[in-house]
Formats: sequence, structure tokens, C-alpha cells
Amino acid sequence: MPTVSCPRCHQLVDRQAINCPYCRITLKAYGHPGIPLHRATGDGYLCDRCVYHEDDTCNFPQRPYAKDCTLYQNIEQSKLESQQQAYTLSFGATVKSWIQRHQTWFLLLGLLFICFLVVLSGR
Ligand code: SF4
Ligand SMILES: [Zn+2]
Repeated sequence: MPTVSCPRCHQLVDRQAINCPYCRITLKAYGHPGIPLHRATGDGYLCDRCVYHEDDTCNFPQRPYAKDCTLYQNIEQSKLESQQQAYTLSFGATVKSWIQRHQTWFLLLGLLFICFLVVLSGR
């Protein structure tokens, strides 16, 4: 069972849990397990670390003092994800260009393999 840490009591709880079974804090919005309700820990506000506050695209009335929010997107996590995505894309592009550069060899190997199969089946 995948678990997350409760933002209030820090106990490990089921990722799908709507309320924390230990301290009863609400973990999901609108009682739906698919809508996470992010909560600020300590004295800070969620907006301080949110992508939508940084790029000024959020128009929620609770901004910039949101203590809980359904749309919160952590800046650091988002940067990490885009770096990983860029790495995957560049790796894919490298493989693609390598295959294109050695296309002739792949073709020759394919033809040799077909010839080999024809010879084998003729025996
Ligand atoms: S999405 Fe939520 S956490 Fe992010 S800036 Fe808007 S109100 Fe703040
Ligand atoms: Zn709790």
C-alpha cells in the first residue's frame, strides 16, 4: 500500500486516504481520493514555493497566503521533472540520430539475415 506522510502529525497514511486516521485532518479535496489537498507545513504559505505564483498565472483568491490548495505545484519538483524530461528527450534524440547515421549498416545486416534465412530454409 503506497503511503504518504501526514502534513500535521507526520504519521504514514494511505496515499488514497481522504482524512488522516490519526489526527483526522482532511487530505483530499471534495471527499475525492483523486484530488489531493496540499497543505503548508509550519508558518510559511504554499504560494511561496508554487510554480503558479512564480510565473504569476494563479488567480485563486487565497493567493499569496494559501495554507491549503488543490492546485499547488512545487517549484523544485517541477524543475526536477522538466530536467528529467529534457534528459529523456535528448537521450531519445541521440539514439535516433545514431540509428540514422548507421542506417546503411542496419540495411545490410537485415539483407544478410534474410539471405541467411533463405539458405537455411533451402537445406
Ligand atoms: S495554485 Fe494555490 S498554492 Fe499555487 S499560487 Fe495559487 S493559491 Fe498559491
Ligand atoms: Zn495526521
